[in-house]
Amino acid sequence: MTMEIDGKTRLYAIVADPVEQVKTPQTINAILQARGLNSVLVPTHVAPQDLADYFKALRGIKNFGGLVVTVPHKQAIARLCDEVSDAARLIGAVNVVRREPDGRMVGEILDGKGFVAGLRSHGIEPKGLKVFMAGAGGAASAIAFALAEAGVATLGVYNRTAQKVNDLSSRLHQVFPDLNVQAAGPRPDGFDLVVNATSLGMKDSDALPMDLDDLLPTQVVAEIIMKPETTAMLKHAQDRGCKVHFGLPMLSSQAELMLEFMGISESNHG
Ligand code: NAP
Repeated sequence: MTMEIDGKTRLYAIVADPVEQVKTPQTINAILQARGLNSVLVPTHVAPQDLADYFKALRGIKNFGGLVVTVPHKQAIARLCDEVSDAARLIGAVNVVRREPDGRMVGEILDGKGFVAGLRSHGIEPKGLKVFMAGAGGAASAIAFALAEAGVATLGVYNRTAQKVNDLSSRLHQVFPDLNVQAAGPRPDGFDLVVNATSLGMKDSDALPMDLDDLLPTQVVAEIIMKPETTAMLKHAQDRGCKVHFGLPMLSSQAELMLEFMGISESNHG
C-alpha cells in the first residue's frame, strides 16, 4: 500500500549536507506506513550557511513535527534549539529535534540511548555492571551519559588523549554527581562489559582499541563500529569465548527512540 499525502499529513525531515546517503527516510517511513500514520519524513539538503534560516522557517510550519539531524549539523542545531537535554548540552550536539505546537524546538542526543537500547534488545542489562569504555569523543560521550543514566556500577574510561577522559568525567559529574567514573588504563581486567567507542576497527591496519591479552570468557565485549560487522576486537573476543555485541543495534535502536521523542505514536496521529 502506498501512502497518500493529503492536507492532514504531518511532516518530519532529516537535515544533512550531503543528504543522498542517509537511510533514515526509508527506515522511519516504513514504520510510519506500517502503523498507518498520516506522516512522512523527507530528506532536506541544507548547507551550513543556510542552517539558521532553515531552522527558523521550520518553527513556523504548523504541521511540522520534528527533525532528525546528522553530519555536519549536530553541533550547530544544538545551539539553535530553545531547549536541549542535559546530555545534549554537555555533549554539545543533538541528533533529533521535536517541534512543540508553539514552534519551540527541543533537542536531544539519542546515540547513547540507542547503544543502551541495543544492548538491552540483545539481553544485556547495563544496570549494576562495571563497564570499561575505550574512547572519549562524540559517540563515547553520548554512550557514557546513557550508561550513567542506566545505572552502571562503575565506568572506566580509557582514551589515547588522556585529558579528554578528565573532561568527560567532569561533564558526567555535573549530571550524575555520584557516578563512579575513573580514568582507566588500556587493560579492561575486572570489568563486566568492555566497549569500543573509538573509531578504531574500521580499517584492517587499525590497532586494537584496548589491550585484550587477558580477556576472560565471562566478559561481554561490545562494538560501535558497524563496518566491518566483526572487527578485529570482536574476533579476538569471540576466539576467547566472550559474548559479543555488534555495532549495528546502536543505530537500528534509534529509529524507535526518534519516533518516541518526536511524539509520533499511533494514538496522536490519524
Ligand atoms: P570522534 O569524536 O572523532 O572520536 C574518536 C575517538 O576515537 C576518540 O576517542 C579518539 O581518541 C579515538 N581514536 C581515533 N583514532 C585513534 C587512534 N588512531 N588511536 C587511538 N584512538 C583513536 O568520533 P565519534 O563521533 O565519537 O565516532 C567514533 C566512531 O563511532 C566512528 O567510527 C563512527 O562511525 C562510530 N559511530 C557509530 C554509531 C553507531 O550507531 N553504531 C554512532 C555514532 C558513531 P582521541 O581523543 O585521542 O583523538
